[in-house]
Amino acid sequence: MPGDLDQQLRERTNRAIINSFWRYRKREEPEIPEGYRIMFLGTGGNPEATFTQQPRTAGFILDAAGVRLYVDPGPGAVVRARQMNIDLGSLDAVYISHGHLDHYGGVEGVVEAMCWAMYARRGYLLAPPNVLETERLVSYYHQGASSYGSYKGGPEVIPLKKDKPVKIKDAVLTPAAVYHSNMNFGFVLKTKKLTIGYTSDTNYICRYSTPSGVKEVGPTGPIMDITGITEYRRDLKEIFSAVDVLVANVTSHNAWAHRHLTTIGLAHLLKNSKVKLCFLTHFNHSCVTPADLRPLMARYVQEATGVKTVAAYDGAVHDVESLMEGLGAKT
Ligand SMILES: [Zn+2]
Ligand SMILES: [Zn+2]
Repeated sequence: MPGDLDQQLRERTNRAIINSFWRYRKREEPEIPEGYRIMFLGTGGNPEATFTQQPRTAGFILDAAGVRLYVDPGPGAVVRARQMNIDLGSLDAVYISHGHLDHYGGVEGVVEAMCWAMYARRGYLLAPPNVLETERLVSYYHQGASSYGSYKGGPEVIPLKKDKPVKIKDAVLTPAAVYHSNMNFGFVLKTKKLTIGYTSDTNYICRYSTPSGVKEVGPTGPIMDITGITEYRRDLKEIFSAVDVLVANVTSHNAWAHRHLTTIGLAHLLKNSKVKLCFLTHFNHSCVTPADLRPLMARYVQEATGVKTVAAYDGAVHDVESLMEGLGAKT
């Protein structure tokens, strides 16, 4: 009977909405586990990875002593979180290092989840001022600055400023200005037990020696003739060689060095550093196609520096402290 069907649908819809309301909009504050975990929702960077999703471009989530931070949620962020069974409503903060699509393209869906369907005022959105204002790559609504009807929630927005610390629960995040686009910030996150660094995308090598003399890094193809590094970003070596764990956006082994770290540059940065564990991520498409070069890149860095180095894979979840166990005197 159509009348019965109508009544049944009204009741079942009502129950489903109540169920969803308490699950996502009026929920309880979740507990973030103590300890240190890094979850790679994506490990790709640059245009080819963005539009082929090889590797995926969803950034990573860091659990650090009770703080849950989503770093650089690129395109695919919410889909990848769903596939990995990660509750984005448990995030404490979302961090955008700079205004390139592979770093911010998935942020608005992530903010809706963090802010409980935009019903709650909760969580921080940390991003460079141009991402928030001049280029407005995150809508004002998702910055919590305009509300529609009962959607009055949103994050607390914190524009990143070089060396200006931001407190997130018991952790302190200090943005480090890096060399990539007009405004880009890596960071150092100081927590109870460990200090964790993130390079974001950055140039590191400025000049290098070759058999035919010293050359300047330029925007041309892979560097084939490098024999040593003669000039580099000393400020970045100082900042990132003092952390315990470093997440390094390498992009490639020896290409795009004018805007990216490269594994050749990273090996120089890590030499004589205090870093105990390093993750490689933000791989260009050419690192995985036609062949997977990532294990070789990690091996190169580890052999050159003695620092334990792990190449990140899409979907990998690492317990940071257990990876650090057994590192002897360096722990
Ligand atoms: Zn990038
Ligand atoms: Zn970039």
